[in-house]
Amino acid sequence: MFLKRYLKDCLSLFKIILPHRKGAAILMYHSVADNDVFFTVKPKIFAQQMAYLKKRNYQALKLSELIDFLESKTRIPKKAFVLTFDDGYEDNYFNAWPIFKKYNFPATIFLAAGLAGGKINNVSNIPLKALNWQEIEEMHWSGLIDFEPHTVSHQRFERLNLNQIEQEIIISKKMIEERLNKKCHFFAYPRGWYNEKIIGILKKQGFRAARTTETGKINKGDNPFKLKRISVNSTMSFIQFRAMIQ
Ligand SMILES: [Zn+2]
Repeated sequence: MFLKRYLKDCLSLFKIILPHRKGAAILMYHSVADNDVFFTVKPKIFAQQMAYLKKRNYQALKLSELIDFLESKTRIPKKAFVLTFDDGYEDNYFNAWPIFKKYNFPATIFLAAGLAGGKINNVSNIPLKALNWQEIEEMHWSGLIDFEPHTVSHQRFERLNLNQIEQEIIISKKMIEERLNKKCHFFAYPRGWYNEKIIGILKKQGFRAARTTETGKINKGDNPFKLKRISVNSTMSFIQFRAMIQ
C-alpha cells in the first residue's frame, strides 16, 4: 500500500516537475474548504503549504511585480512565487484571506464578476458560494488582494463568438474597475482556452498579461499573454507541493 502510494507520488512528481524545474511559480488555486470538489484544497493543507513557503523564505510577489520583471531587464528573484485564485469563491474570504494577512502574502483573485454574490458550478457539479461585493471590497481595500477579471458569466470561450468574448472581457473589467475604483491589467482565460484573436482583444483593452492553464513556471522571455501556472488542487500531496516550488 505504502509502496504503491510512493510510486504514484514519484510518477506525478516527474510529470509536474521535470519539464518545469526552473523559474517562478504562479500557483493556481480555486476553493479552500472542506468540500469534495476536485480543485479544492482543504484549509489545513492550505495552511501547511503557506507556512512552508513562509518558513523557507519564499517571496510572494504580486502578479504585477512578476510582470514588471518580465518586462524589464531585472532578473526574477530566485525564490519568487505568485498566488492566484480563480472564479472568486466565498471560502477564499474565510479560509485563505486570514492566512494572507498573517504572512503578508499578496494574491490575485480572478473574479467571474457577474456571479459575485451567487453560486458557481464546476466539473464536480457541486455549486459553491461566490464572494459577495462587500467581501470583495473589504479584501481589496486591505491592499493585499488584487481583483482581476475572469469574464462575467464564466462560460467557455470556445462556445462563444468573438463578439461575445469581447463583451465578456470588457464588461467584467468595467464591473471590477467601477466597483473597486481601480484599473485592471490582468486576465485569466476560463478553462485556459485562448487564441491569438483573444490576445488581440486583451491588448486592445489595455491588459498587460493573461494566465493560461498550461503547466509550467515563468522565466524571462515568456509571453505575458500565455502565462503558465502550477495547479494546486485536491490531488497534490505535500511532497509534490514542496518539490514543485523548488
Ligand atoms: Zn474559472
